[in-house]
Amino acid sequence: MVVLEKLKSYLKKIKEKNKELNIFLELRSEKELIEEAKEIDAKIKKGVAGRLAGYVVGVKPNINVLGLKASCASKTLENYESTYDAEVIRRVKKEDGLIIGMTNCDEFASGSSGETSAFGPCKNPKKPELIPGGSSSGSAAAVAAGMCDVSLGSDTGGSIRNPSSHCGVVGIKPTYGSVSRHGLIDLSMSLDQIGPFANNVYDAALLLDVIRGKDEKDSISVESKKFELENLEKPRKKFKIGYLDFESFSVKGDERINRLIKDRLDEVIGKFNLEVPTKLDKSKLDLMKFAVQIYYPIVYTEFFSGTRKFDGRRYGKKIEDSCGPEVLRRILGGAEITRAEHDGRNYHLALRAKKSLEITFREIFQEKDVLVLPVVPRLPHKIGEEISVEEMYAYDVFTIPANLAGVCSMVVPAGEIEGIPVGVQIMADKFNEQKMLEFASLFEK
Ligand code: GLN
Repeated sequence: MVVLEKLKSYLKKIKEKNKELNIFLELRSEKELIEEAKEIDAKIKKGVAGRLAGYVVGVKPNINVLGLKASCASKTLENYESTYDAEVIRRVKKEDGLIIGMTNCDEFASGSSGETSAFGPCKNPKKPELIPGGSSSGSAAAVAAGMCDVSLGSDTGGSIRNPSSHCGVVGIKPTYGSVSRHGLIDLSMSLDQIGPFANNVYDAALLLDVIRGKDEKDSISVESKKFELENLEKPRKKFKIGYLDFESFSVKGDERINRLIKDRLDEVIGKFNLEVPTKLDKSKLDLMKFAVQIYYPIVYTEFFSGTRKFDGRRYGKKIEDSCGPEVLRRILGGAEITRAEHDGRNYHLALRAKKSLEITFREIFQEKDVLVLPVVPRLPHKIGEEISVEEMYAYDVFTIPANLAGVCSMVVPAGEIEGIPVGVQIMADKFNEQKMLEFASLFEK
């Protein structure tokens, strides 16, 4: 009765804490969950269970799960019940993962703090007065609060990694194209990727291994190599490591974060006798500094395009009449950028810069196996604290480059500052998840 017992303890935790923390927006009926847990337990007993048997899974509500609400934490889709499973959900179910419900997030995944949800902000389980980070706020918080084993989120510019850092969990943004986006409601289709959250590197890697791979329904998805999960126990010890901090980016941040990450990196290097990391060459950083400025014209344009279907005729309400200010800003911005008289200038410029950044990263990863850098330049703010749009956008300066370049990137907990978790970001080249995961395992150990 492994799964059933676990499920009951999670449900108990949710009953106790969800009112306060606002992590789950919707749960499946208890009856249905218990029946399914019993079925999985029976399969385990017979030795015929799938790879995710025993895992209880939370899902960000921009991913379709048959019969549950894909609300995107928005009034626009608040009553929209999914009529099908996204490909990632189909794979999770096939391997006997038990989906428990839909988590809170920033509205249409637009935000870095979890505060733009139409259903109230999600809170940080470690310090409820603080933001948990976003946009996949509830998916990170659910794992951190002990309300499920693992969860799924989406990352367009940092939405898996940013809340992983603030909540103290592991989160992975896979290589662009390695996980099917079928059934994901887009923020920005050329950048979005679905990825896992977990309490440890192994669980996150396992969930990613289940959902990755070619899917006919997503034409840009490609097949990739199965992970060697057993190597996470005994990771290789030879890595060429690149290193980046605030100074090299010319970004203002909380200096304690730099120090914490550097200390942890030094510790790992000392303990495993690794080659000393080199700081990245300044010339490589020129473009990275402009990550935020390159990112938003792309996001505004693609989001504008993607949201034209929410016209109130087929699904939900008309988006412009029902969304919050951040979503409206993106729609209006996208409408402006795509006006015929601009001839697509800003979008195309941004795409060109994106391409250059992709080349920069290709060069970096010809020399380095992994890149170590901060996740968010400052500690999470208090919920409701006034911060400017520019400051909020700047939260993602270290995470956006991976999305623009299409490479893989993940976050592992690095310690705490004043009781607030802080993560370290590890990046690797496209489809080099295995290397990244092994290096992350060293950090974890
Ligand atoms: N914070 C970024 C944004 O608002 C990233 C969001 C995301 O990754 N979904 O666009």
